[in-house]
This record gives sequence, C-alpha cells and structure tokens, in this order.
Amino acid sequence: MGRHVWIRLAYNRVPPSPLPVSGSHPVLELQGSILTLCHHTAMQGACVLLLLGLQLQLSFGIIPVEEEDPAFWNRQAAQALDVAKKLQPIQTAAKNVILFLGDGMGVPTVTATRILKGQMNGKLGPETPLAMDQFPYVALSKTYNVDRQVPDSAGTATAYLCGVKGNYKTIGVSAAARYNQCNTTSGNEVTSVMNRAKKAGKSVGVVTTSRVQHASPAGAYAHTVNRNWYSDADLPTDAQTYGCQDIATQLVYNMDIDVRHDEIGAGLGRGGGTLSTQSQATHSLGVLKDLHGFVGVILGGGRKYMFPEGTPDPEYPNDVNQTGVRKDKRNLVQEWQAKHQGAQYVWNRTALLQAASDSSVTHLMGLFEPADMKYNVQQDHTKDPTLEEMTEAALQVLSRNPQGFYLFVEGGRIDHGHHEGKAYMALTDTVMFDNAIAKANELTSELDTLILATADHSHVFSFGGYTLRGTSIFGLAPSKASDSKSYTSILYGNGPGYALGGGSRPDVNDSTSEDPSYRQQAAVPLSSESHGGEDVAVFARGPQAHLVHGVQEETFVAHLMAFAGCVEPYTDCNLPDPAGVSDAAHLAASPPSLALLAGAMLLLLAPTLY
Ligand SMILES: [Zn+2]
Repeated sequence: MGRHVWIRLAYNRVPPSPLPVSGSHPVLELQGSILTLCHHTAMQGACVLLLLGLQLQLSFGIIPVEEEDPAFWNRQAAQALDVAKKLQPIQTAAKNVILFLGDGMGVPTVTATRILKGQMNGKLGPETPLAMDQFPYVALSKTYNVDRQVPDSAGTATAYLCGVKGNYKTIGVSAAARYNQCNTTSGNEVTSVMNRAKKAGKSVGVVTTSRVQHASPAGAYAHTVNRNWYSDADLPTDAQTYGCQDIATQLVYNMDIDVRHDEIGAGLGRGGGTLSTQSQATHSLGVLKDLHGFVGVILGGGRKYMFPEGTPDPEYPNDVNQTGVRKDKRNLVQEWQAKHQGAQYVWNRTALLQAASDSSVTHLMGLFEPADMKYNVQQDHTKDPTLEEMTEAALQVLSRNPQGFYLFVEGGRIDHGHHEGKAYMALTDTVMFDNAIAKANELTSELDTLILATADHSHVFSFGGYTLRGTSIFGLAPSKASDSKSYTSILYGNGPGYALGGGSRPDVNDSTSEDPSYRQQAAVPLSSESHGGEDVAVFARGPQAHLVHGVQEETFVAHLMAFAGCVEPYTDCNLPDPAGVSDAAHLAASPPSLALLAGAMLLLLAPTLY
C-alpha cells in the first residue's frame, strides 16, 4: 500500500502551500532548510523528525495512493451499503444490558479519539473505526436538564439511568426536588433501571474511573438533592436533621436490596434470557437460592468516603490528606461485607484479578484510590486496574447469574481532562473507554446482550484548522493565525487554557502542544472548562438496539434498557427470549491477560504520542 507524503515547511510568516509529491513510495521534499529525517515507513508513522533551525515550522501529511482512485471509495461505500441492507433487527428480549457512559464524551471527542486511537494502531487515523463506531445503530440524545440548557452530570444521570429528567446537581430525584434543599427529596425519588433489573433477578454492577460516589454512578443507586454530599462530612446540619443520607451510605444500602424469591419467580421468563422451559426455570431458581443476594459489583475510586475520619489509606499510609473522612466513624466497607457472605473488598489490581476469577466471590467491591482513579496515562498499571480490566472483571462475576445482569461502565475522567483543559488526558482516557467497549463486545453475544455507548453531555472542546491527514490530533494547524502565531487544532471555548497575557496570545510549537500536560488555548478564562450543550451520540448493538434512532430525549436511554430487559415498567414487553448465549463459562475461565497486554502496549506506545 503506497502513501504520498506531503512535506510542508513554513518560515515564520510565509507558509507555502503543501507540496504534493507523486510516486508509490513515500517521498520527502524539503524547501531550503537543514532537516534530517529517519527512514519513514508507510504505515507506522514512527518517523523521527529532527528539525534544525529554530524558526522553522514543519508539518507533513500523507495521501494514501489507493484513495486517489475513485474505485476505492465506490467499492468501500458499496460494501457499507450492502451491510446496511442486510442489517436485521434482533427482536428478542435482552438477557444482559451494559451501558457505557463516557462522561463528557461529546461527538468532537469521539472523532478526535478515533484519530488518536487509529494512529496509536499505526493507521492514519480518521478512517479507522472505534469499537463504538462499529455498532450498527446510532441516535442523538438531547442532554439538557429541566432547569439548565447546558447540563451537568447529576441531572443527566437521572435522565439516562432513571428515565426522568431532573434538575442541575440533583441525582435520582424528579425536577420537583430542589438543589440543596434536603426536605424536597422525600417523595420525589425516581428509581433507576439498575434497581428494577435487580428486582427482576438480575445481577447488577457499577464500574467507573471516577469515585463510585460521583454523580454519574450515583444515578444508579442514590437519591440526593446535592451531588457533592459524598460522605456525612459533606452534609450540612439541616440535611442531617431532615435525615438526608450521604451518597456513600446509599451506595452500601441502596445497591443491595435483597431479592425476594417471589420476585425472582416473577422475573423468570421475562428477561430470563436463555431460560425457555419450566424445568430450566426451576433449576435456575435453585441456583439463585444458593446465590441468595447474588448481586453487586462496585469498582472505581472513592475509598476515603467509606472509612472513619483519620483512617490511614492502605496505599498512601503516610499521607494525611488521603485518610478516611467519615465523621460518624462508620466503616461502610465492613458494614457492606457483614451483609453478604462471599463479599470481597479489594483495593489494588492484583487482588481484583484474583477475586474476579474466584467463583466463591458473590459480591465484589474494589476501590482503587481515595477519591477518583488516576488518568489512564498516569496509572501504575501494576497497581491500578484499567477500565478495560475492571470491565472484564465485572463481566466475569456478573455473568455467573443465569438470569443475566445489568452493568453500568463509566469513563469518568474524560470529563475531568476536559475540565482541566488538557485534551491529552481526556482523549487518552477515551481511548481506554473504547478499549473497554471492545472487550465487552468481544465477551458477550449480540444475540442476548444489549450494549449502549453514550455520553451524559458534551464539552466546549473543538478541533479544526485544516490539519493534514495523518498528523497528530494534538498538533498545530498548518497555517498561521492572523496574529502570525501558530495555533493548535484543538481549542476550548473557555477554561483554564486562557492565556491572553498583556493583550497578546502566546505562540505555540509542536513540542509544547504534544506535552501531555499542555492546556490548549481557551477564549474565556474559567478555572474549570465548562460542559457543552449540544446533543451527544448513542451507539447501540444487540436485542432492541434498532430502536436507537432519531433525535431523542436522554431519558430514552433508560426506557430502552428497561424495555429490552423487560423490567419495570415494561414487564409485559412481550418479547421472546434471546436466542444466543454469552459465553459465561469462557468468561469465568479466562484470565484477563489480554487486558494486561493491552495496558502494557499502551505504555509502550505512549512515547510516540509526545
Ligand atoms: Zn463535568
């Protein structure tokens, strides 16, 4: 496969036009400069450029030779059309439902991640589909809160997890509840699909890279008028007086509503997945009796909200800022373990992988940092599990329930990278989020498992500037701005990247813009970059995925999950049982070695991103 290479060399203010170079092998042409290039292989893009001459700006793009031929595009589109014509809706119920939520993963973030991940895999980038891109059905989701046009993660979690829109900063309550007014909570609670799935006999799990008490995961189990009430130490006096509970306490006591056997019986046959005959159903009931309360995988960060004030953290025993924070002196992990036989608590990667493959573990809680987990690129992969590893561990445990499972997986720190104005952190975490989707897609069958991938809201993140094909997503636009300075393709509408000092914008070069901690420039100064208000995408595959179409309210996501799983209020969904079986035995047996390998590869690839 050939590539035409465009080399473009710009002196300060006079950028020449790109120079198309013909031939089936990459050819580099340079204009009046001292430049050293290593051998450039067509696919790997690992070429080292050594630029001598401080005032020069270099960018090079690649034109694949085959893409010059109209037949290439006609053939590719015809194939895509053929796939579309053959697409058949899967009209059964879903035994399992997995919701992947990229916090703050707007459509521009998805596209930029596609380019980044493609290049990490040795491709040019934009042509290479993400795992979520390969799902057959897509819709747009309108993310506004009842009281805000541009939403937050709390009100949106209520929408896509409970099916009812709520107000900004409130979780698991209708819009009749008011922010920070504890006495408006009671009577306004709305129930999550996860809660209803559990009532129907399914196992449930929450996996996130943020703290497990954070707004998005909390939408699965909590009811609160203030998303920041992580522990009792955060509750104001009047909230304590009125009896409002902190989110950590609700995590332990709301997620584990014990399943009564009559409810299990009612759940069979509806969302019972592969249980098609009465004898199988009876057998399954016996299994469930043995696994009484077989529910609950909780993986993420958030240790400090679970332990009494001053309790040293196991990972940072000498750091006084990482100790437990609970003023009520409760040890919620201990309380959680006392509730269930077979409940295991872990706080590092090694213990997680062991627990996940131990069939005696019926409840698994893994808390890997005192608060949020680290960005993927900052993790110590011997100590911290990746999102992909946590997803695999959760699937191993949850898939043992013959009645199926409901799993929520969040790439929680995509949002934080954007808030910090550091696109590198946001996009590399989105790559890992997509890796987790790929893993779940591989480990489950589309015949019995509905997978949705979406976001709660977007960010004021953009990329533009007519960058050349194959160039870094973190790189510069090939032309100078009107102030004769360079600018990065990625820019933020607002945020901490605002750097207008003394009336003039700072210049930027390639080595600066490729630094992982670089803050892309923003038009307006804010200590934390803000969310964006445009629609986000919903990608879907599996039973009832074909209902994902058109422009929908964000609440549609929750209702679709409830309908496909035949749980309340759609227990009379009238859908046939799924035909396929996700390979639970395989899941339980396979060690997560591939995930480890992928983590190691990311580390190896990281230098090429700088
Ligand atoms: Zn946010």
